[in-house]
Amino acid sequence: MARYTGPNCKMCRREGCKLYLKGERCTNGKCPFDHRSTAPGQHGAARKKVGEYGKHLREKQKTRRYYGVLEKQFRSYYRMAEKMEGITGANLLCLLERRLDNVIYRMGMAESRKEARQLVLHAHFTLNGKKVTIPSLLVKAGDVIAVKETSKDNVKIRTLAEALATKTSPKWIEKDAQNLTCRIVALPQRDDIDFEINEQLIVELYSK
Ligand code: SF4
Repeated sequence: MARYTGPNCKMCRREGCKLYLKGERCTNGKCPFDHRSTAPGQHGAARKKVGEYGKHLREKQKTRRYYGVLEKQFRSYYRMAEKMEGITGANLLCLLERRLDNVIYRMGMAESRKEARQLVLHAHFTLNGKKVTIPSLLVKAGDVIAVKETSKDNVKIRTLAEALATKTSPKWIEKDAQNLTCRIVALPQRDDIDFEINEQLIVELYSK
């Protein structure tokens, strides 16, 4: 399975904003972006004029990187979003939010989406009572996600579980911190996404 293995913090510098890809480090004062926010590379600090295409491209890359999705899969979400009823841009973001790795991150059972993805791949979760190992799986309203019984003794899971009650989840995820489970009470809506994204720019890019 293809995945990005390069440096995460460089992506934040490239996109000119914090993408929160490294969990605690992003908020504990050790974030390199707080000290150096110029684009990476030898000429990164030089002011560059971004053209119309560049603006559209950067918005797409920022969103893709924020959710940890590769280009091919991102484009397939876009095609799905186009076929759905409603506004394509909003549909696209809601599809990305419904990914299992994102749900586990939003629930608070992982410090980052990357960590959530890793935990899913290592089969630490169940979906509606069945073992699940596909981070890109799209959840539906009514789905129940839980930490697998045998994983509750795992050191990493135990550490994450201790902090779970202190984390806030969006209103479409009903969390039970005691039992390490959550239920999708409704599908996420555009208003539930608080990260700054101009999805219209992505739609314009792909419709060219
Ligand atoms: Fe981005 Fe987090 Fe790295 Fe800061 S620490 S640059 S927010 S990935």
